Amino acid sequence: MAYDSNNIFAKILRGEIPCTKVAETEHSLAFEDINPQAPTHVLVVPKGAYVSQHDFADKASAEEVKDLWQCVHAAAEAKGVALTGYRSISNHGADSHPDVPHYHVHILGGRPLGRMVRSESP
Ligand code: 5GP
Repeated sequence: MAYDSNNIFAKILRGEIPCTKVAETEHSLAFEDINPQAPTHVLVVPKGAYVSQHDFADKASAEEVKDLWQCVHAAAEAKGVALTGYRSISNHGADSHPDVPHYHVHILGGRPLGRMVRSESP
């Protein structure tokens, strides 16, 4: 899948759409999700043009990969969920139901999140 530079996170990165910034590192930005699914719901995106985590893992430099996870760390510290716990999720491909085709890590926390996969799931 080719990268679409008109996606909403590309516009946020270019400053064309506002966001509530949580943390920023050299190659990554963390901001509040517009439709939070938990008391803490932050998105962490690389500044580079990557469609998904699968694309990022294939093409990003080691420096970008390290930086992205340092930004996750900084965002979790800033939101206070490093102590209480949080979940990081990233969707790739049709079965995961992604909405925005720019790689992002969801950080969810601020309450007990339950089991990640229900026990009745295969
Ligand atoms: P996905 O389903 O692609 O993994 O997650 C996309 C996330 O982006 C959703 O949680 C959605 O609420 C969030 N989102 C969509 N549009 C915007 C926006 O304009 N601003 C912000 N901050 N988040 C957005």
